[in-house]
Amino acid sequence: MIINMNEGATEQEIQHVIERVREAGFRAHVTRGTERCIVAAVGSGGKRHELEALAAAAGVAEVVPIAQPFKLVSRQVKPEGTVVDVGGVKIGDGSFVVIAGPCSVESREQIFSTAEAVKVAGARLLRGGAYKPRTSPYEFQGLGVEALRLLSEVRKHVGLPVVTEIMSTEDTDLICGHADMLQVGARNMQNFALLRRLASVKKPILLKRGPSASVKEWLLAAEYLLAGGNPNVVLCERGIKTFETEMRNTLDLAAIALARELSHLPVIADPSHGTGRRSLIAPTSRAAAALGADGIIVEVHPCPERALSDGAQSLDFSGFKAVMESLAEPLRAAPVSHHRINRTAAAN
Ligand code: PEP
Ligand code: MN
Repeated sequence: MIINMNEGATEQEIQHVIERVREAGFRAHVTRGTERCIVAAVGSGGKRHELEALAAAAGVAEVVPIAQPFKLVSRQVKPEGTVVDVGGVKIGDGSFVVIAGPCSVESREQIFSTAEAVKVAGARLLRGGAYKPRTSPYEFQGLGVEALRLLSEVRKHVGLPVVTEIMSTEDTDLICGHADMLQVGARNMQNFALLRRLASVKKPILLKRGPSASVKEWLLAAEYLLAGGNPNVVLCERGIKTFETEMRNTLDLAAIALARELSHLPVIADPSHGTGRRSLIAPTSRAAAALGADGIIVEVHPCPERALSDGAQSLDFSGFKAVMESLAEPLRAAPVSHHRINRTAAAN
């Protein structure tokens, strides 16, 4: 249930409602928007009729059920979009953030040259896999700790905050010591032990949509993170499995707009994994921008034909520069206010 407070509700009235929610056996999550305060009562087993009775309490405008199974990620609970700060770079503030870098960190030379090239071209965050989820155990599995150390070093040298994937709860402290944002990959979207562990870290999480996950399941995975105490989550649409075989996955573009409509969390697209083809990255990135995405994550390699993972979908430096240039036009046509307007429309 959500308890919408009146615009002029006093702090005392808000605190009273929070207490009553707790007495009824629920957890109270408070969202203070620019206009009004919303108290969400979440959890199971509490006394719903006691919440309903709060409609008569001072300062309360209305008590309404939360329509969706996800609660804290819902726009109903928090109409204003969330802004996630990743090492000083803001995702969800109306700008279009480009995250770029190799699928896997392969060597010092590879990650340093790529970081420099993507920064010059306009990327705001650097990606690079240290622990790789590979379909076959015989494929390159990532450099592990060595890659994390290189990411730390390159961050200092080039000045781009770093995103890397976490696959195991055991690696949490280690990866938190090196990365600015932790990626939960598509294959681990419903690894609930991992989600529970990451709910208690201080770093923001990039939560990719599972290849066979519905939008509802994706948002419920994000709910684990928020319910456990980590509000800094960015959703990433990275393509789903369909009957189509010409592309590695089917980038579900409408899901970007839907996720933004249903949730206040920022949403980005991954056209690299979403299509598996470097030729499709420019057009699908433009489409994501037009749909109101808060950014993209793209794979870039100094020499894609030599890449140890995902070469076919990786851009070389000049290809990445061309994608950035092709994005400049639609972003000029859809400036900050466009994103803001979309968010407001979605909330209504
Ligand atoms: C990746 O980012 O390299 C990756 C493995 O992503 P996904 O989980 O979307 O397949
Ligand atoms: Mn990859």
